[in-house]
Amino acid sequence: MNIKHIKRLLFYTLSFLIFTTFTSNLGAQEKKFVLVIDPGHGGEDPGAIGSIAKEKNINLAVALEFGESVKKNHADVKVVYTRNTDNYLTLQERADIANKNHADLFVSIHTNSVKSQSAYGAETYTLGLAKTKDNLEVAMKENAVILLEEDYETKYQGFDPNSVDSYIIFEFMQDIHIDQSLETARLIQEQFAHHAKRHDRGVRQAGFWVLHRSACPSVLIELGFISNKNEERYLMSKSGQKEMAKAIYNAFSSYKRGHSKRSGTGSSSAAPDNTKQATETANNSQQIVFKLQIFATKTQLKTGAAEFKGLENVDFYLENGMYKYVTGTETQFEKINQLKKKLSDKFPEAFIIAFQGDKKIAVKDALNRLK
Ligand SMILES: [Zn+2]
Repeated sequence: MNIKHIKRLLFYTLSFLIFTTFTSNLGAQEKKFVLVIDPGHGGEDPGAIGSIAKEKNINLAVALEFGESVKKNHADVKVVYTRNTDNYLTLQERADIANKNHADLFVSIHTNSVKSQSAYGAETYTLGLAKTKDNLEVAMKENAVILLEEDYETKYQGFDPNSVDSYIIFEFMQDIHIDQSLETARLIQEQFAHHAKRHDRGVRQAGFWVLHRSACPSVLIELGFISNKNEERYLMSKSGQKEMAKAIYNAFSSYKRGHSKRSGTGSSSAAPDNTKQATETANNSQQIVFKLQIFATKTQLKTGAAEFKGLENVDFYLENGMYKYVTGTETQFEKINQLKKKLSDKFPEAFIIAFQGDKKIAVKDALNRLK
């Protein structure tokens, strides 16, 4: 082969590479952001019941109103409803719809009800272990629909929505989408308070099966309490439903703006995995270690900062632009669990994470691999 041939070969190779890179980028840009909207309950499952309202109808009305605004104003978003009529779906079927459609965001819409008529206001949940009895009760109520299914014990892997013990699975899970879920929840609560002027009951955590099974950032909204006369009237009114839908829409639009900026293409699957271990224990070995994550911040803290509450031996790792502070390095789960208990007064929100080599893995997987 003479130099001319080599040059020609190089030219064709480069042209091919440029062409394929260009067309694959085009493909990535064309991928729409998939928003899955899940109006809770439906059909034979009415959800909560007020003096005049049925939860399933409020959820559906707000969901459709929200979805239609998104369709009208975001050409680059594909809206998928888990249901758009009054029909019954299991929790697993709802999560399956999200996963089959490769959802970028899953928004489940519900309405609350409690015995006391005085409770009112809106709250948004992300997946997590409930820290209060109230939050656990909300999750139990929303998961209870599982009991309508035959053979739910095997279908839901032994998960019993009525047993407090069942909820322990949410302590050992690793939710890699938690940051985006929290951001979405915060934006929604902000809009409920400012746009719809609702009482802000805050962002909360609890173990919702439907969030647990959807493999994307996900939130569950409780619009308000139909056990409260005023709120029931508001949520039953067309204007109230429109206002709540607009609030969720505004929050979605801000989230989507941030999302497009971060990923460049509007596709979450294209987002780089920037998990990076910054601890001294990170080495090339494939050893599994457990650590205790005590909190996360947007900016890096100085050694000895007040936030550490006098705790030494604190490291961090970077994930999704957050500094996640960890302490303890144990090869035995029991040991890290002891540390968690020991520090529970100072850091009640701390939770256990696992690494294999310098890669963060699910605690569940770490425990399985150690068996
Ligand atoms: Zn519900």
